[in-house]
Amino acid sequence: MKTIGLIGGMSWESTVTYYKIINEAVKSRLGGLHSAKILMYSVDFDEIEKCQSEGDWDKSADILASAAERLEGAGADFIVICTNTMHKVAPQIEKRIGIPIIHIAEATADELKKNGIERVALLGTKYTMTQDFYRDKIKEAGIEVLTPEGEDIDTVNSIIYDELCLGIISDESRKKYIDIISGLEKRGAQGVILGCTEIGLLIGQEDTSLPVFDTTVIHAEKAAEAACKD
Ligand code: GLU
Repeated sequence: MKTIGLIGGMSWESTVTYYKIINEAVKSRLGGLHSAKILMYSVDFDEIEKCQSEGDWDKSADILASAAERLEGAGADFIVICTNTMHKVAPQIEKRIGIPIIHIAEATADELKKNGIERVALLGTKYTMTQDFYRDKIKEAGIEVLTPEGEDIDTVNSIIYDELCLGIISDESRKKYIDIISGLEKRGAQGVILGCTEIGLLIGQEDTSLPVFDTTVIHAEKAAEAACKD
């Protein structure tokens, strides 16, 4: 079995989910007492969030690339960055290491294609929803991306940073997300990407008739698959 190098802590609330799903997926593949070989570097999210809000992406890239180097040095076979947003700096991290990164948006695009989705709604942080680094990966797979508009962008974004990353799960916010998803469904979305690793803590398939693509689950299962491959 290969050793997975997780860069976590963004936020730790969702890294917990990664750890659980990866271990469950390895157990279901290999059976018995098998569990995943994992090395984790969990960052201080406060430092990363400050880089984001100050627009200092180079500094955040350096922090995450240093983490990736340490994981490689400790014996990781590949890297999993446990956040959608910070894949903005995946190319810079890639340059500093000799092992591959399993890209969360590429894994998600594969899953969308497998399910025949041609037009998809994307929920995530304002960076993920409005910048090209993430949407382009989905578009490259030939899939049209719809994102919330106007104040809905702010609603989706602030629920992530002010609630979900702090472990606050509220019915009121769930309702806001459900309303925004149904607006995107009316605009023609055939599925919805939970494109932030904490959204699955708030919303699940039971909350919408649209097929849900939870990036945390997709990414963690992809990591387990890669770890178990020869
Ligand atoms: N975990 C979130 C994501 O998947 C947001 C936290 C972050 O900014 O990294 O984008």
